[in-house]
Amino acid sequence: MSNSNILLQDFEYAPFSKIKTEDYKPAILEAVELARQEIDDIVTNSAEPTFKNTVEALEFSGEKLDRITSIFFNINSAETNKEIQQVAQEISPVLSEFKNDIILNKALFEKIKTVYQQKDDLGLNTEQLMLLDKKYKAFTRNGANLPEEKQEELREIDKKLASLKLKFGENVLAETNRYELPITEESKLEGLPEWFKDEAASVAKSKGKDGWVITLDYPSYIPFMKYAKNRDLRKELALAFGSRAFHNDELDNQENVLQIAKLRYQRAQLLGFKTHADFVLQERMAETPEKVNSFLNELLEKAKPAAEREFRELENFAKDLEGIVQLQKWDSAYYSEKLKQKLFNLDDEKLKPYFKLENVIDGVFTVANKLYSLNFQEIDTVDKYHEDVKTYEVTNENGEDIALFYADFHPRPGKRDGAWMTIYKNQYIKNGQNERPHVSIVCNFTKPSEKEPSLLTFNEVTTLFHEFGHALHGMLANTTYPSLSGPNVYWDFVELPSQVLENWCYEEEALQLFARHYKTGETIPQEYIDKIKESANFLEGMATVRQLSFGMLDLSWHGIDPTNVNNVKAHEKEAFEPTKLFPDVESNCMSTAFSHIFQGGYSAGYYSYKWAEVLDADAFEYFTENGIFSKNIADKFRDNILSRGGTEHPMELYKKFRGKEPNPEALLRRAGLLAK
Ligand SMILES: [Zn+2]
Repeated sequence: MSNSNILLQDFEYAPFSKIKTEDYKPAILEAVELARQEIDDIVTNSAEPTFKNTVEALEFSGEKLDRITSIFFNINSAETNKEIQQVAQEISPVLSEFKNDIILNKALFEKIKTVYQQKDDLGLNTEQLMLLDKKYKAFTRNGANLPEEKQEELREIDKKLASLKLKFGENVLAETNRYELPITEESKLEGLPEWFKDEAASVAKSKGKDGWVITLDYPSYIPFMKYAKNRDLRKELALAFGSRAFHNDELDNQENVLQIAKLRYQRAQLLGFKTHADFVLQERMAETPEKVNSFLNELLEKAKPAAEREFRELENFAKDLEGIVQLQKWDSAYYSEKLKQKLFNLDDEKLKPYFKLENVIDGVFTVANKLYSLNFQEIDTVDKYHEDVKTYEVTNENGEDIALFYADFHPRPGKRDGAWMTIYKNQYIKNGQNERPHVSIVCNFTKPSEKEPSLLTFNEVTTLFHEFGHALHGMLANTTYPSLSGPNVYWDFVELPSQVLENWCYEEEALQLFARHYKTGETIPQEYIDKIKESANFLEGMATVRQLSFGMLDLSWHGIDPTNVNNVKAHEKEAFEPTKLFPDVESNCMSTAFSHIFQGGYSAGYYSYKWAEVLDADAFEYFTENGIFSKNIADKFRDNILSRGGTEHPMELYKKFRGKEPNPEALLRRAGLLAK
């Protein structure tokens, strides 16, 4: 079988065009067996456990499996079909069982523990110590150091948590789907764009109804709140959205919220942590709940006056325009949009001609060249999974091979929404050989038509820079171990390289390099650049306080002992008090539908959105102080951040780059909330 299955043969570049869908499953099953064998070899090795024969051996095990699954899962996201989804269904349990078997492998853990206990006497370098720590914690954070009966207890908690989280998500989904707002008089849709009405009409049609139907799905809910002039309907929809899973019925999530918070707390306690947040933050740049709390509070203290000022401005605007006396939650998006139109009058259609896709790609390559001396050469010698995919050879100033870069820009059936970066082959050093990475970005930008090339909205431009920033983190990686390479870092640190690069899109000096009218070649007018900058900070105080309120709500559940909390709404109201701008709505509750933290992986992690913004603002300030194309600063960023992956604690890396810890005021300055 190995011979005929292309995935099981040796390859340097992913052999996309030669892979048949039926190759995936047998290849993955065989690669899992291979990886199991490699782990068995570590366990049964009769020699004394050493860093090399245990930790390093574990690190380099499963290489074949990694390469095959990275191809498979990206194809499942970027070029999927029913058969591939079926394979994903079949292999997912196999892969999670394999992962579990490693974590629960006692003999393997004992060997790692032996090495870990000698860690200070082994003469290990920083990267090796990081690797050892990471491997050891992967076991202990799952209870490997606990006595048998406590381990049992932990498994029980994990089982209960898994089913509660599932139930939480199902309830939110069912509540979202249960509601609809049917509209039969077109006058009630005043203010909404034509495309929205068409969409709402087709939703109605699909439900066998006349007129229009508005739902609580984001593509329906968000534009309605932003554009619908009818205040009563906005209120009705907002109240429905805000009361999801808060109706004291079979879909209510209050009890699930309490149970999840309590079980997480118990789990943390079992493992010797004070709270769930202490457990989570052990592997984050922010480190402790105390640090996150003071971070959020410091930002709040400084952003709140601006937020209150903006709130009054918005309320006055609404009063002048339509006689609104008290601005409510359901007015915020609507009047913000109206005020934005009045102040900036900057719509996407005016900007798009300056952002032809090819020009923006040249732009991002030029920026990477000026900063990091990288050269991008399009090549056609590498296999692709779709004809739209572009491939580039990336070299440095000495012509040395740095990376292979794939870019897949346009939507098509079989590609999921959004934009992301993925890696087909990690960078690492083995047997003295520096293996260079294969990095890809996947986006969904407007396709070129017969009449027009692909013209990007400004939002798409920043998205491209964002994903390319992640790609640079992958491409410039220069570490020994693959699991510490490139973007394999603590996840409140992973958005620094991506978000920092977005800053160049707002800079005249950068825009002049590539923002040219696709017909006339004229450079983007200064007036537009100014408006882009100004509108980026529009109502930023209110937006900041809103984000902080979510981060604080998250910590209010996960940074405490929740044993005696029994009223979800009362608890939430108290947590929101410091960030409150709008009157509270008694029939609404956010926690019962806060899937990010109760269903997804963001518990004790919501703060990281703002944390990452602070990092990128503070890092970019260093560039602006020295020139946005300063070679000196770029070198520091590459040598201490981009090339170093997770080989050292991110705060240490950051201080080496910046000379000090990140300062939250940089974000407030950039947002115009503090005097420069
Ligand atoms: Zn990102």
